[in-house]
Amino acid sequence: MDRPTLILDADDTLWENNIFYGEATDAFVERMAREGFDPVEARDTFGRVEWGRVPLVGYAVQEFNQQDKVDRSGLAPYFEAVHVVPEKGPEVLRDLIARYGLEPRRTWMVGSSPRPDINPALAVGVGAVYIPYAVPWAYEEAPIADPDRVITLQCFPDLLDLFPEPEEAE
Ligand SMILES: [Mg+2]
Repeated sequence: MDRPTLILDADDTLWENNIFYGEATDAFVERMAREGFDPVEARDTFGRVEWGRVPLVGYAVQEFNQQDKVDRSGLAPYFEAVHVVPEKGPEVLRDLIARYGLEPRRTWMVGSSPRPDINPALAVGVGAVYIPYAVPWAYEEAPIADPDRVITLQCFPDLLDLFPEPEEAE
């Protein structure tokens, strides 16, 4: 059996991320409340600024330094390639399919979020494996375009059952 190609999302799939963002947001709102601002308004404003930035600067690669997270994780040797992109979408997947000559029916996008991971996979015709994160980032939440074509797993290690090593497959 030919090996499948797995394209893995990183934040909230390979490592936790949004839980820390949520904690920082809560700390900011508490601070604003201590300064006399309405906490609900502070949280709403924070969210509006956050959502307004993404279409303008993507996920701000420089600021969040995704490559540094990869380096610190120690996971890079387990991948044939690592790509840091401003924002994931169908075009990014099409580029990867073309660059590596991937066969869509043997290629799977694995991710934590419908908007940047699952729906782009469905759009370009590769497999989609959804591993929901307990604390999703609101910006990345969206209805799944075609749930019947999506495999949902409870946790990351379940990938081992879905994609067994070749010698274990028979
Ligand atoms: Mg993610």
